[in-house]
Amino acid sequence: MANLYVKKMEGYSGRRLAFRLAYGCDLLEALQGIVEEAEVLFGSINFLGAVQKARVGYYLQDKKRFITLDLDEPMEILSGLGNVSLKDGKPFVHAHVTFLDRTGTIRGGHLLPGTITFAGEVFIEELELPAPPERVDDPVTGLSLWE
Ligand code: ZN
Repeated sequence: MANLYVKKMEGYSGRRLAFRLAYGCDLLEALQGIVEEAEVLFGSINFLGAVQKARVGYYLQDKKRFITLDLDEPMEILSGLGNVSLKDGKPFVHAHVTFLDRTGTIRGGHLLPGTITFAGEVFIEELELPAPPERVDDPVTGLSLWE
C-alpha cells in the first residue's frame, strides 16, 4: 500500500486568537504581521470578510511556477483558509481564498500581496509541537513544503 502521508505531526491546542482587520490593508501582509507579532509558529488560520480587489496565484504544475490573476473588483471573501509554519526560521503564512463577485461567480486562488481588505475577521488556532515543521524546497513539486 502506498504511503498515506509524508509526515504526521501531533501536538496540543495552543492559543486561539481573533482579529478584526483594518479597512484598506493588504490582506496577506496583515495576516503575516499578525502571526509575527503573536509569534505563532504553527497553526491554522481562517478568515472571511470582503475585499476591494484581489490578487491570487495559480500554480502551473507542469512548469512549476505561479501565474498571477488580478481580480480587480470588490468581492466577498466566502472562505479564507490558511496555515502558518516556519520558513527560513520565521512564521510564514500560506493562505487560499474563495471569493464571490457581484455576478454570483466564485473565484479564488493562492493569496498574494495586492489583495486589499474592505473588512475582515480572522481566527487563528495554534498547534503546539516540540519542533514545528520548517518549509523546505520540494524537488518533486517545486513548492516549499513541510520538511
Ligand atoms: Zn497555495
